[in-house]
Amino acid sequence: MNLQRVADKLDISLTRLQNLQQTVIKRSSWPEPRLLRFEKATSGIEAGTIIFENGEIVHGYPKIRRAMMLAAALRRHFSDRVAVEEKMNGYNVRIASVDGEMVALTRGGFICPYSTEVAEQLVPEKVFHDHPEMVLCGEMVGPENPYVPKEVYPTDSIDFYLFDLSRKGQRGTLGVIKTHEFAKDYGLKATSLFGEFGRERAYEETVRIIRSLGKRGREGVVMKDPDNKVSPLKYTCSESNCGDLEVAFRYYNDYALDFFVSRAVREGFQSAEWRESEEERTARALRLGKSILFPMVDTIQKKIRGEQIVQHVQIKVKSLQTAREFEYHLRRSGMKAIFDPPEPSDEGYIIRIARPIMSTNDKTQALLEGDTW
Ligand code: ATP
Ligand code: MG
Repeated sequence: MNLQRVADKLDISLTRLQNLQQTVIKRSSWPEPRLLRFEKATSGIEAGTIIFENGEIVHGYPKIRRAMMLAAALRRHFSDRVAVEEKMNGYNVRIASVDGEMVALTRGGFICPYSTEVAEQLVPEKVFHDHPEMVLCGEMVGPENPYVPKEVYPTDSIDFYLFDLSRKGQRGTLGVIKTHEFAKDYGLKATSLFGEFGRERAYEETVRIIRSLGKRGREGVVMKDPDNKVSPLKYTCSESNCGDLEVAFRYYNDYALDFFVSRAVREGFQSAEWRESEEERTARALRLGKSILFPMVDTIQKKIRGEQIVQHVQIKVKSLQTAREFEYHLRRSGMKAIFDPPEPSDEGYIIRIARPIMSTNDKTQALLEGDTW
């Protein structure tokens, strides 16, 4: 790898790059191709940015800021029109072609063997044949998504939805219009685009969309500048905020405090901004309260019955090699997971995975035995 050339492409000095190699840049030699990844954001370089062995760079997907007071944030942030797109709840992958092979990259900058197998099935080869430099940014969603399994999308396995495009070696993304055109040209699924609205009308339209998405168990929206001049904003449904809390309180000792607080605060701002009636606010309070109390009590009762606190997920793979590699990938990402023996199915193998939630498990046990908080 020619480090000087890489530094030039990243727009930093060679010395800076060499210093970063001692700190935020980590090496990953598996699976092939070998790569360097930015574990944290630095010098205007996004976290998850990857430098492949051949010197090609895939930039990290930028963070999206969240609107809390929707109307005010829309007014402050956007200059003219706003495109409202669905925010899908799965995990972020960037799909690229390196030395002629498709790879799916996680947010943190690892090659995920499972996502790569899924990508190979869902992304036509023509995409990278025509555009070898393209990076497809999208969300992997569905019940066989091992990180955030969700039943609310039209798939009983896992699916890929494109929401952005970027190019190898280039910072920034190509924007909402180009992305949807590209998806159409290549028959890829893309996140729903609900419409483009003037900045003033965007608030009421977005609230209407959010209410309807919430009823359907969907996550929320990402609001984008159609001209791609200002960065996007995200905003989520109450049902989704509460859904997150439900998972987090089930595993209450395994989540950071901020995860709980930020979601509760979103509910406060939405309730105030929407000027809810007494009745609506009470319904929200009930939803919020249930999402905190019910899963937590469930966890405690499980432990009282002597059960382990475990999360079950499942994936389907074409080859057993992928299953083995995915097991290794989870382990190196620091995730504890127990893989059941593969079960042959018509399309390959079903792999059931149990994730013991150790901290919540042990904490609950200790408290039940009289430990103090
Ligand atoms: P951040 O982007 O602030 O790091 P995060 O990692 O906490 O956020 P989210 O709160 O889920 O993640 O919000 C951003 C993510 O939303 C994106 O990284 C992407 O994976 C996902 N996403 C889903 N749908 C879209 C969409 N239509 N446009 C952009 N991102 C989307
Ligand atoms: Mg997400």
